[in-house]
Amino acid sequence: MQFFSTNRQAQATDFKSAVIQSLPADNGLYFPETIHPLDQTTIDGLRGKKGLAEVGFALMRPFVEGVFDDRQLKGLMNEVFTFETPLVKVTEQTQALELFHGPTYAFKDVGARFLARCLGAFSEQEDKEVTILVATSGDTGGAVANGFLGVEGVKVIILYPSGKVSDLQEKQLTTLGQNITALEIEGDFDDCQAMVKAAFLDQDLNAQLNLTSANSINIARWMPQAIYYAWLSLQLEDAEQTLIAVPSGNYGNITAGLLAKRMGFPLGNFIACSNANDVVPRYLKTGDYAPKSTVATYANAMDVSKPSNFPRLLELCQNDYDEVKGEMQGFVLNDAQILSTIRNCKEDNNYLLDPHGAIGFQALKEQLKPGQSGVFLETAHPIKFAPVMEKAIGSLTLPGFADELMAKEKQADRMEADYEAFKNYLLAR
Ligand SMILES: *Cc1c(COP(=O)(O)O)cnc(C)c1O
Repeated sequence: MQFFSTNRQAQATDFKSAVIQSLPADNGLYFPETIHPLDQTTIDGLRGKKGLAEVGFALMRPFVEGVFDDRQLKGLMNEVFTFETPLVKVTEQTQALELFHGPTYAFKDVGARFLARCLGAFSEQEDKEVTILVATSGDTGGAVANGFLGVEGVKVIILYPSGKVSDLQEKQLTTLGQNITALEIEGDFDDCQAMVKAAFLDQDLNAQLNLTSANSINIARWMPQAIYYAWLSLQLEDAEQTLIAVPSGNYGNITAGLLAKRMGFPLGNFIACSNANDVVPRYLKTGDYAPKSTVATYANAMDVSKPSNFPRLLELCQNDYDEVKGEMQGFVLNDAQILSTIRNCKEDNNYLLDPHGAIGFQALKEQLKPGQSGVFLETAHPIKFAPVMEKAIGSLTLPGFADELMAKEKQADRMEADYEAFKNYLLAR
């Protein structure tokens, strides 16, 4: 399978080189040349099996053809899915797809683990050291760092916005050591993302270092997220009518949901759930894509003003606004509403939402029709956002894993949001 650039200037390339390059030279995003629905026998055959690894094998197989054989792909899938994504009933009409049972307690473990294992396999084949750059608004860095920890031939540099991630997230990023370095940037997530993008487009730098990205722009981060949607589709009785609410920031997760649908796994409409950074809900209303500057919110993993996967959303909908509108509606919740949703849901249903999942839950509450079912994605464990949770429900007891992490000492290099300084830092290492 070939992957083309959404900007249509750069050359199409295979899975391996699209993963290694991460970003095409024309600053677009890689996208699969064809998305064929799997045949009905394959899909029906998956129903009985139920495992994420088996579903993942069937779904990813067409895309990695010629790069991984069946045995390798099965091996990769078994290494990625060492955890489950349970579907948990919250109310009569709503279920949570809990994506936080991986090693760093957020859905990004899925993509990060797949990418890490792909790059590990490639680096072994080539015998070349690679440097992974990753900008994080909170969860990505921890997931990626954990996925790569101790992998030979791979160095990881994580950029995160100073003071804009939770203490627990910061500890996850800054306490690993070994081949992982944390860079604390005096700016916001968009600054971090811009610095990483600039590095990839810097030919001088790329001539000296083997740079790779672990952000959701990488197809090996993005595509495997379709697997839990496919798995979900197979669990639902009325999949085609089930509303799917997805807390969204860079729109990697929700577009992977659409990809699963295009692969032949029925799902109902999506709800693009936002905090105050609501560029896509506004686009859905008006047809006008008009980014504003980033606003800090309680759902900080979604504090993104220019979603990097937006071109993929358009591509999945034939670049047709009406088709995008036919697939999804928008939903926005402010900080005060996030707190009251968490509080109410705990009282009414004895279910603890995190600030991101809360937006998904409330979206379903307001948009489900009588008798219709909905699933919202619980994208991270609530403990990762302890200060917000305390505001919502009072004190919170730390689970053991969090206590242990908080006791470790932070190690990070600090830097202004300045590309030249970043480049010199990379070259000096
Ligand atoms: C990253 C993240 C999101 C947003 O996911 P995108 O794929 O960027 O849209 C939502 N919730 C949590 C907890 C996250 O970490």
